[in-house]
Amino acid sequence: MPASSRSIVASLRGYYLRWWRYDKNTEARVEEALERDYWTKAQWDGWKQDRLSYILHRAANKVPYYREVWSKRRKKGDRASYEYLENWDILEKSTLRQRGSDFVADDCDAKRMFRDHTSGTTGTSLDIWLTRETVKSWYALSEARWRRWYGVSKKDRWAILGGQLIVPVRQNRPPFWVWNAGMNQLYMSSYHLAPEFLRFYLTALKEHRIRYLVGYSSSLTSLAQSALSERRKDVTMDVVITNAEPLYDHQKELISEAFGCPVMETYGMAEMAAAASECSNGSLHQWPDAGVIEKSDSAFADQPVELICTGLVNPDMPLIRYRVGDSAIFSDKAEDCGCGRTLPILKKIEGRNDDLLYTTDGRRVGRLDPVFKDASGIAEAQIVQISLREIVVRFVGSEGFEKAIERTIASRLQDRMGDIEVHFERVEKIERTASGKFRAVVCELPAEERSAAASG
Ligand SMILES: [Zn+2]
Repeated sequence: MPASSRSIVASLRGYYLRWWRYDKNTEARVEEALERDYWTKAQWDGWKQDRLSYILHRAANKVPYYREVWSKRRKKGDRASYEYLENWDILEKSTLRQRGSDFVADDCDAKRMFRDHTSGTTGTSLDIWLTRETVKSWYALSEARWRRWYGVSKKDRWAILGGQLIVPVRQNRPPFWVWNAGMNQLYMSSYHLAPEFLRFYLTALKEHRIRYLVGYSSSLTSLAQSALSERRKDVTMDVVITNAEPLYDHQKELISEAFGCPVMETYGMAEMAAAASECSNGSLHQWPDAGVIEKSDSAFADQPVELICTGLVNPDMPLIRYRVGDSAIFSDKAEDCGCGRTLPILKKIEGRNDDLLYTTDGRRVGRLDPVFKDASGIAEAQIVQISLREIVVRFVGSEGFEKAIERTIASRLQDRMGDIEVHFERVEKIERTASGKFRAVVCELPAEERSAAASG
């Protein structure tokens, strides 16, 4: 398809999505969300209790899957009340994948709902059904906390580096992007970020007068590296917003330097069970009106724990105590943020559970990027755990690579993981996932070995 037709198709899709997401009440909803940012604890407690009761009641009575679960439990003599969240079973992603449509309330007409199909990694696709009311609520929250906090709005011209394949992977000539007039958005392929194409991306950002960038941390980092190495000072942004992957400190610094602006980390998911965004004070604030994130204690301080979330935005496909597949580190104390917002703080999002490593003493280790600190000659690297005692570091070498750096990296990994073997494998490139994401850490330990490790 020629570029101009692609733009028409993308724009039509954009206008269609805009109809689902926004209407004349959007601005009022945004204002309300921004007001809730400063609510007192008592205000939040009252609001959450009402909303959660409504969701739990609706799930237990109107949703086929949950009705079945509760009826089975009743038959076994279980008298636990569905009115208390802690009485609900944990919902696994595999169940949601297999039983998808059984999670839609039976007073809804699925054909009239928006069906969001997420690709995820191979074999992990999910379907989520949403009414227009839910879509509008969610996008009002996003407008407030993913844009207004940073001084931009959906009306400003923006670019997204995303996982949709918009031009064939084999195409080796720009444009690798498409203008979506319906959303004022330049949609850029994250599959064509090869070193030789990066300068075309930078020029496109400038020519389209883009004010802010949204995308995967790893893709934005590649773009930033290119801008810095080409000494391009002419492509500046108001803000860069990262999503879908954790943002590491070194990435944040690079991107900020390249585009002369703050870099903000956000967290969310298609299932709409929880969300968070970073404030100007550097805290990652939860959105309590998006979902309840259970605060579980960990046996080790500063250790990632799996997120269990109950979505509050979608009462028509309620996800109760849903294991979203990501881990985070909770703040150990209630903190007041310098920004004045009262939204609870998450210390760090660690990313997918599959992107953590396990030690023989039962710890889970994330955020391994510091082991590559000052490692010149390594363009990118991926740490793969093969067994509890064995790790492989795959890396793409670049100019200035010296074998000695391997020893430094191995000993830093051993500092964090204990007595393990570390092997190195130099590769041409590191494969992205089906949705174009870069995985810095891959845990190939079978699930049973992980839980055996975790239980000591
Ligand atoms: Zn704050």
